[in-house]
Amino acid sequence: MTTYVWDYLPEYEAERADILDAVQKVFASGRLVLGESVRGFEAEYAAYHGVGHCVGVDNGTNAVKLALEAVGVGRGDEVITVSNTAAPTVVAIDEVGATPVFVDVRAEDYLMDTTLVEAAITPRTKAILPVHLYGQCVDMAPLRRLADEHGLKIVEDCAQAHGARHNGELAGTMSDAAAFSFYPTKVLGAYGDGGAVITADAEADRALRRLRYYGMEQTYYVVATPGHNSRLDEVQAEILRRKLTRLDDYVEGRRRIARRYAEELGDLCGPGGLQLPSVTEGNEHVYYVYVVRHPRRDEIIQRLKDRHDISLNISYPWPVHTMTGFAHLGVAKGTLPVTEALAEQIFSLPMYPAMPEGLQDKVISALREVLREL
Ligand SMILES: *Cc1c(COP(=O)(O)O)cnc(C)c1O
Repeated sequence: MTTYVWDYLPEYEAERADILDAVQKVFASGRLVLGESVRGFEAEYAAYHGVGHCVGVDNGTNAVKLALEAVGVGRGDEVITVSNTAAPTVVAIDEVGATPVFVDVRAEDYLMDTTLVEAAITPRTKAILPVHLYGQCVDMAPLRRLADEHGLKIVEDCAQAHGARHNGELAGTMSDAAAFSFYPTKVLGAYGDGGAVITADAEADRALRRLRYYGMEQTYYVVATPGHNSRLDEVQAEILRRKLTRLDDYVEGRRRIARRYAEELGDLCGPGGLQLPSVTEGNEHVYYVYVVRHPRRDEIIQRLKDRHDISLNISYPWPVHTMTGFAHLGVAKGTLPVTEALAEQIFSLPMYPAMPEGLQDKVISALREVLREL
């Protein structure tokens, strides 16, 4: 059987009774949309983060989109972000009619290089959108300083960083609004699509509730601007409530596998060879993806596939600014050298908390064998 970087079935095996009970509870509740489970999840997810508000939405892309709209980003504005991210980050900026402006990432942790942000600010800049990529946080203090100085908003893309901490603070609590995805692979994953925005700002919360509900505050009446239909599904919300009680365990499970990879692959690392993820000081990593780097990435992936039936992923093979769908931005190849170099060398090892130990053994020994033979 092929080994993939992610598989939800072992977790479902372990949690089946609870998940099916959640489904049954919603089906029997008499309320299928925006009912008790969405309200309950919103209260519990806000409480987990110690913030005042959480608004459940239909997916992470729309969480980013609605967060941007709720803090006032719209047509003609510029949003500073990175090109080394999941394309949806940038799709969301495009959807609100704003223009993404990319800064490069750091070679050490592949996250937004905050020293480049000030030079990217123009009179049209409205917000900074740091992405806590792979499960660890962008350095937020310099962004806060710049935002205060230039009157900008900050929206965190936390789609990969549920439970991650930065200098003790939870991802999502260091900005004006923070977007989460509950896509099944994520650290907190639903059994289908889901998302949420958290915020400490009551005005943003009110705007978000309107925006996900056609622009209505009261049924059948659009108040300010037309919104969207972007509600979190009641069934997914109830499943997420159950899984939220286990979020810290999921994170611990991921860290255990990360420690194992580091212990068993550490001796193969070196200049020009394998590089394991580096955790930046002040960060508590949640390892949404375990991203390693090697100059001969493509050969390694091919051999693991051909000889060991291990199918690895690349997060991400194409920097967003090089995709034909974003050619209209006119960002030339070569302008984000670290991002572009990374995309040629990174790949991800299997990582999910319920990953069987035998599979971990298989991945480790196969990778050791392939690297030895290179
Ligand atoms: C997954 C992801 C999204 C999009 O979330 P969906 O729920 O798939 O719409 C946005 N940003 C990042 C960084 C992601 O990893």
